Parts: sequence; structure tokens; C-alpha cells
Amino acid sequence: MRNTDEQAGMGRMLEDIRREILYTADETGLTRFHKTVMDAMASVPRLQFVPQGLETAAFDNGPLPIGHGQTISQPYIVALMSELLHVGKESVVLEVGTGSGYQAAVLSQLVKQVYSLELVPELAGEALERLHRLGYHNVEVRQGDGYHGWAEHAPYDGIIVTAAAPHIPRALIDQLRDGARLVIPVGEAYGSQRLLVVTKHADKLDERIVLPVAFVPLRHSTLDRPSTLH
Ligand code: SAH
Repeated sequence: MRNTDEQAGMGRMLEDIRREILYTADETGLTRFHKTVMDAMASVPRLQFVPQGLETAAFDNGPLPIGHGQTISQPYIVALMSELLHVGKESVVLEVGTGSGYQAAVLSQLVKQVYSLELVPELAGEALERLHRLGYHNVEVRQGDGYHGWAEHAPYDGIIVTAAAPHIPRALIDQLRDGARLVIPVGEAYGSQRLLVVTKHADKLDERIVLPVAFVPLRHSTLDRPSTLH
């Protein structure tokens, strides 16, 4: 893809995101996203995160297959989840479901450090290689089961889950800083799902439903011990 095509594609993608923000405003309560979020979306070359052969669809506002039955999320959803996290330059965040690494790259532009867990070893390895090759050095990727979170770096200033869970995993709540948010799709695998924002308060959780969504399922690990990738 030529450079000018890529610029035009990015322009179209940002326009489509803005249009969908307005289209969903009644449900989300948001008529615009922060400039920092839109700038992060504009700065990450989605083309670099999609598989060969799908280049012409790289800037479409939809999910795309990345192998292993998984997908790179829709750009609007990546922007929305980044917006809902309410994080800033000093934040340390956890992502569950690295996939292509695209959402992690967008978050890396907004926060100090991103830790990202991916269940499928091949995807974890490819995403780590891609993120480092593209210069996203404040992202660490580890193969592991997101149901257990990543206790070593907790508590987190925000946690984002990019696969649909049947319930809110307890470990993720435990690893969330007081007052911080968990953004997570909850619902049936390939069935009815809702994007939730869960805010942790000392003795209770505040849950807000944002939008109906369609994510691949959060799966349980059959591996005993996760390994760390460098
Ligand atoms: N954030 C990704 C989209 C990922 S799709 C991107 O921007 O490209 C969801 C990902 O979650 C898949 O890669 C899937 O393998 C992973 N996944 C599923 N169950 C998981 C689990 N229990 N722990 C960690 N990752 C999981």
C-alpha cells in the first residue's frame, strides 16, 4: 500500500469512528472522545497489525481475522474502550487479550506502561515482536490466562479485557486500584454481550452497561504455567 493510500485510509477510519461516536451517543452518553484518544488512534498504523492479504481492509471500521480463530478489534471499539478507561500519562494498565497488539499500541500512547496477557503463545510472540519492531517499548506481553490477571504489577490504574467473559473475573477486581476502572465485555460466547465499565470502590463495585457488543470469547487456559516472553 502506498503512503498516500495509507494516509487516505487513516483519514477515512477516523471519520468513521467520529460518525459511530455520534450514532451511539444515546447509549454511551458520549458525543466526542478526548483528543488524546483520537490522536492515539491516528498515530498507530493499523496496517501494520493486520495479516498479509487484508491490507486493503486495514482501515475499515470493522474487526478482521488474525488467525487462531481470533480477531483484531473494530477501530471504534478500540477508541471507545480506551476512552472509557479514564487513564492518563502516569497510568499503568493491564490488557487481557493482546491479539495483534493493536489495542495495546493505542493504549501505550496514552499511559506510562501497558502489560498485556495473551492466551495463545503464537499470538503473544508475534504481537511482542511487532510491538517492539514498531517502537512501542512501554508494552510488555506475556503468554498467560487473563482470568488470573498479572499479579506482579498490580494494582493497575485501569484494566481492559478484549474478549467476552461469562462473568467478571475475581482476580481482575483484586488487581484493580481503588477508584480505577475495568472495561470488559460480559456475556455468552457468540451470543448476547454487553460492554461494562466496572469502577472499584473500597467496599463495592459500580457497574455500568455501555453498549451491546460482539467479542470473541475469553477462554480458560489448559496450560499449567505461563511463560514469560522477552
Ligand atoms: N486486543 C486485540 C483483540 C484481541 S481478540 C487486538 O487489538 O488485536 C481477543 C484475544 O483474547 C485473542 O487473541 C484471544 O486469544 C485472547 N484470549 C482469549 N482468552 C484469553 C485468556 N483467558 N487470557 C488471555 N487472552 C485470552
